[in-house]
Amino acid sequence: MSDLEQNLADVGGTIERFRGATLGHVIDGERTPGSSGETFQNYTPIDNSDLGAVASGNAEDIDAACRAAEAAFPAWASMAGDERRTLLHSIADAIEANAREIALIESYDTGQALRFMSKAAIRGAENFRFFADMAPNARDGLSLPAADHLNYSLRQPIGPVGVITPWNTPFMLSTWKIAPALAAGCTVVHKPAEWSPCSASLLVDIMHEAGLPAGVMNTVNGLGETAGKALTEHPAIKAVAFVGESVTGSHIMKQGADTLKRVHFELGGKNPVIVFADADLERALDAVVFMIYSLNGERCTSSSRLLIEASIQDEFIERVTERVRHLVVGHPLDPATEVGPLIHRRHYDKVCSYFETARQEGATIAVGGEPQPLNGAGNFVAPTLFTGARNDMKIAQEEIFGPVLTAIPFADEAEALALANDVKYGLAGYVWTSDTGRSIRMARDLDVGMVWVNSENNRHLPSPFGGMKSSGIGRDGGDYSFDFYMETKNVCIAADTHSVPKIGKGT
Ligand code: NAD
Repeated sequence: MSDLEQNLADVGGTIERFRGATLGHVIDGERTPGSSGETFQNYTPIDNSDLGAVASGNAEDIDAACRAAEAAFPAWASMAGDERRTLLHSIADAIEANAREIALIESYDTGQALRFMSKAAIRGAENFRFFADMAPNARDGLSLPAADHLNYSLRQPIGPVGVITPWNTPFMLSTWKIAPALAAGCTVVHKPAEWSPCSASLLVDIMHEAGLPAGVMNTVNGLGETAGKALTEHPAIKAVAFVGESVTGSHIMKQGADTLKRVHFELGGKNPVIVFADADLERALDAVVFMIYSLNGERCTSSSRLLIEASIQDEFIERVTERVRHLVVGHPLDPATEVGPLIHRRHYDKVCSYFETARQEGATIAVGGEPQPLNGAGNFVAPTLFTGARNDMKIAQEEIFGPVLTAIPFADEAEALALANDVKYGLAGYVWTSDTGRSIRMARDLDVGMVWVNSENNRHLPSPFGGMKSSGIGRDGGDYSFDFYMETKNVCIAADTHSVPKIGKGT
């Protein structure tokens, strides 16, 4: 049996479970098909075959979930931090115990190659462990003494929160939001992406099996315009953590306006990787290729614009081209696969449309630029490299969110910076140079939330994660997450030494 056959055999039972019954919501600890009985179909991008029906949540289902989260909030919020820490570690243990099933179904549901998804569950567990350990001190504030008063601050969980996630790495991203929310003492209503609902369903079950009280974590499946919208409008929900497209972020901001929702947005990107001639070109090459072609290019921090110093352009592009030609496109459950199929037919059509756009705009398709079906099926596209591009082209300005790289030359540092910043997005920037002063200048002047110097995207849970401009509002990670999920309260106590103003004494 090949590794692929073994993986398919191992995930077969899970697939049958999803195919065999409508995937319901989990509200107040109970599985429910929802109030309307309406469903939508989920498909695997491998061949667009059916992966089962999913309950299509509506405003009534969202209301039930929000009420459950509201009812569970007081007990969860007042639980001692170290008790919450123990429980969240139990969830991490349970995720690890189920890591292989999660990885296999995530890969089958999203089309992401197993070589990357095999770490998804482990990373999800790490998210729980990291924030579990911060739970006991999450409430701690500051002591701010003044001459006649003692001010001190403390933090309290904001209340039930909504978590809305996309389809690109659903398990990792969901846990990245849910773990700090729970550690802070908030209860959660999660609305997973409709194109990849499977791992969220496993997650909520695992959490309950690990001992999470009913109502603390609720999962409602459904479409963005119905279930997602209702969640962002619900008065019981105090904050919405959203990961997805920039335009959806705008919708959510409008939808949440009447109830004055606090929002945290992690949105799109068109991130530059800037390679200077003095860089370690071998390492830069590895990182450039990895950061756009891994995860099918469906990654918010993908380096989708290669800004390359003109003096090394020909040589470097030739080497990138060679690598891209040799990328292994294939079945996502095959351990050899480096690029799998794109999540959904609609997204595949969008990515493919940029091949024509590139031609019309006068860029060169150096590699790829066409579908690459597997056994005549599936949402596979050839890893693609556009050269001869200008920064004002759509292929340089718009988020394609596929295995597609646009290369643009620059003459000097000033031009590199100007090109890098000339997009509406501002999530991440990657700089490759051996000149320390230049790396400091570039890091300072790039209009992005995160800069990596001589590195690919490297995860560090205490560090702030998030974007500027159209790429987001707010930061995640470490204590930044608690600032979002908690209210800061200041308490001011007098030492009875100051004079209180007197009015109404008639003099
Ligand atoms: P999307 O915005 O279409 O959907 C994301 C989620 O929002 C889904 O669950 C969807 O159902 C829901 N939604 C849609 N309309 C809604 C509405 N009106 N109200 C409430 N919820 C609604 O995004 P997507 O296509 O699933 O994901 C891809 C996008 O996510 C890309 O732009 C990518 O860059 C971004 N992303 C950003 C980060 C980051 O950290 N910045 C990380 C991953 C993905």
